[in-house]
Amino acid sequence: MIAEEGTMLVEKGPILVEEGPMLAEEGTMLVEKGTMIEEGRTMLVEKGPILAEEKTILLESKDLLSDFITVLVVELQSLMGMFLYLPHGISSSPYSHLLDPNMWVEIYDVFTRDACSLLGLSVDSPLSVCVNAGCTALPALLNIKQVMLQRQVTGIWNGKDELPIEIDLGQDSRYHSVFACPILRQQSTENNPPMRLICGHVISRDALNKLSNGNKLKCPYCPIEQSPSDARLIYF
Ligand SMILES: [Zn+2]
Repeated sequence: MIAEEGTMLVEKGPILVEEGPMLAEEGTMLVEKGTMIEEGRTMLVEKGPILAEEKTILLESKDLLSDFITVLVVELQSLMGMFLYLPHGISSSPYSHLLDPNMWVEIYDVFTRDACSLLGLSVDSPLSVCVNAGCTALPALLNIKQVMLQRQVTGIWNGKDELPIEIDLGQDSRYHSVFACPILRQQSTENNPPMRLICGHVISRDALNKLSNGNKLKCPYCPIEQSPSDARLIYF
């Protein structure tokens, strides 16, 4: 028995000698892997707060942007893709164009147009609106003037506020009506809305309060005496 075991041990000897360096190599690899895992762990610990911040941003955007998902699918996909590059900086990512300073100029323009559109106001200045309306209407007015001269009916156009014909300026030139108080000479606001007096004249609420004398109010135009509480709010 001992002799047999001796033979087996002698046979295994060279095999073990061969396995020795392999095991040593594996050992080195494991030590290297260990270092890498340790490094990875340090990075994750360092990135923890950044990831938490990203999570907050993602959760907030989910609440804020979910209403727009049906109309802005492509834009929102792009925005979500950009978040993936947050840890390494968006400026060096394929989404760097989203940080272009020109975007602010574009956003400013979009916001102005949207705000004006919501309020029914013109984006352009009132002067340019008037000039454009005049340019659109002038050919038709010159035409009608010519016709009236030919038929010798110029008297119809008596030069008062009204034009002899209606001229369509197009949908772009139609705006929401604004009310400017004739007393305070200010445009009405939500806090200072127009009020209709029982005589039919309209002034702003601030003007009404200023003109009221206790329970009495004299219309600045008629001047019919009335109670300030009879005035009715006008909605545009
Ligand atoms: Zn009046």
